[in-house]
Amino acid sequence: MPSTDAALWCVVPAAGRGTRFGGGMPKQYLPLVGRPLLLRTLERLAAHPRIAGLMIALTAGDPHWPGLASLHGKPVLTCTGGGERADSVLAGLHALDGKVENDNFVLVHDAARPCVRGDDIARLIDLGVAAGGALLATPLRDTLKRADAAGFSLATEPREARWRALTPQLFRRGELVAALESARAAGVAVTDEAMAMECAGFKPLLVEGAESNIKVTTPADMMLAEFLLGREG
Ligand code: C5P
Repeated sequence: MPSTDAALWCVVPAAGRGTRFGGGMPKQYLPLVGRPLLLRTLERLAAHPRIAGLMIALTAGDPHWPGLASLHGKPVLTCTGGGERADSVLAGLHALDGKVENDNFVLVHDAARPCVRGDDIARLIDLGVAAGGALLATPLRDTLKRADAAGFSLATEPREARWRALTPQLFRRGELVAALESARAAGVAVTDEAMAMECAGFKPLLVEGAESNIKVTTPADMMLAEFLLGREG
């Protein structure tokens, strides 16, 4: 039987170009409280007692990658990501061949989420392993509008039972690889792991996580992340 309480590997897609951010430097290398955003995220993951190692998907020949081999005594490995986030995740999962059994769980966490909390990671692992797969998420609190092409509000969507998907997400490596590959073969553009698993017939558990686990996409997000990390001291 594969072990489920052992520490887990985490795949970190970090091959985005950060085009929504603007500027020359990819957003994951912009300084966040004095250190590159990506490093902040990796440090937080590597410091977690339930994480065994990190597999980072980078753009081919990434000139900014500092060439880390370990962090907090945990191995840091890299692979080449792909054109879409799902391709980068799939590359990372394949690169764990021989390290992580198909039946074992892996985490996937966006490089662009440096404020993830350690207690949320632990709860995700505990609940997610028991459920067979899970993701951190937050219930939607705002009123949701459907817009027309010109930017006018056509209707108000119900917000009950609507959640925002965060990361990490946790699935068995083999099941996630199969789900991402069949989504790709079907031409379905999946925007997170849970979507691929849903398309494959799974029902991932939504584990409520802190809203502070923001994805840094714009300069305003970077300022918010600075504030959130600064507050932690
Ligand atoms: O673009 P978005 O903000 O959705 O990216 C989420 C995460 O996926 C980021 O950490 C980004 O670096 C990563 N990504 C990737 N490969 C891509 C696109 C995005 O690893 N082709």
